[in-house]
Amino acid sequence: MSKKKKTLKGIKTPSRRKFFKAAAATGVAAVAASSLAAPAVAADRVEASMVATWPRDFPGLGTGAQRLAKRIADMSDGRIQITYYAAGERVKAFDSFDEVASGNSQMYHAADYYWVKKHPAFGYFTASPFGFTYSEINAWIHFGGGQQLWDELCDDYGTQSFIAGNTGVQMGGWFNKRIRSANDFKGLKMRMPGLGGQVLGKLGGSPISLPGGQIYENLVSGAIDATEWVGPWNDEAMKFHEAAKYYYYPGMHEPGSLLACGVNKKWFTSLSKSDQTLIKTACAWADELTMAEYNAKNGAALARLVNDHGVKLEKFNDKVYDAFAKGANEVYDEVQQHSALAAKVHKAFIKARKEIGAWTNLSDSPYIQQRNRALGI
Ligand code: CA
Repeated sequence: MSKKKKTLKGIKTPSRRKFFKAAAATGVAAVAASSLAAPAVAADRVEASMVATWPRDFPGLGTGAQRLAKRIADMSDGRIQITYYAAGERVKAFDSFDEVASGNSQMYHAADYYWVKKHPAFGYFTASPFGFTYSEINAWIHFGGGQQLWDELCDDYGTQSFIAGNTGVQMGGWFNKRIRSANDFKGLKMRMPGLGGQVLGKLGGSPISLPGGQIYENLVSGAIDATEWVGPWNDEAMKFHEAAKYYYYPGMHEPGSLLACGVNKKWFTSLSKSDQTLIKTACAWADELTMAEYNAKNGAALARLVNDHGVKLEKFNDKVYDAFAKGANEVYDEVQQHSALAAKVHKAFIKARKEIGAWTNLSDSPYIQQRNRALGI
């Protein structure tokens, strides 16, 4: 007997006869089940609270979360009711995680990198320095093993998180002075959360994590010297241009910030499979719609900031970017020392960035460069 034949023999494939036998049995069972089924009973009503880290009605972030809560109600004909609480309405913005982990509320809408003090690996599931763009992080989470790692991380806290929005590539931030070298960050008090903030620390700056609702007052009072937030559409709404004139791009710290819907896992798994699927589907819809809205509105907002408000648009130079890269490497070295799970997430991130990024490098990136060059736009 040849080796090839042996291999084929080793694979267990159901015989044609067995297949038809199984199909017939399933058919019988299905008929029996449907004829014996009880009359349709209305599925359970579900009531849940969703806390958020965003101010009420804040463009994209707040409105996106509120739209998600309403969508879940609409998709279930009002059977699943989510009572939405913006930052400070039920708990403070940064208490949202504990609120859901403890089961006091069932859901949150936030950026998971707000929880890096609990575990640095949370940083990878919003945005990490020199990390994924929108399409790349979605590829990683949905098809590259990212969701499984995210689940493993959240499991220790009794939560689970799903993609429920994205802001796209963020701006580098608002400054009162030009940033020409890494030295310009020395002693700079800047609002920048997550692992990106830690990179700023490596450059001699003082990173400060503040929820959105508290940034403007701190910038105006001088309690902080600089801030990053999101991008033109959101930053215009924050009126940062009243307190800082230099608006830098591109941000190394958040190239595609994923917004998460976190759930209390015990509560979530107590729901029917169809309700779980409904909520996860609504989150995926919220992700797509949120990203589309940012992409649709950032350009016009940027024009208003520059033309109507005198904002000076500046690009970080290569020297500054090289310093960011050095700082990011130092931060990542430390993250890996934290725990086995942090090292595992980091390793997966590096592998995915290489594999998924190989395609971005040949697709989005050169196409946009050539489109602009050839058309002179
Ligand atoms: Ca940001």
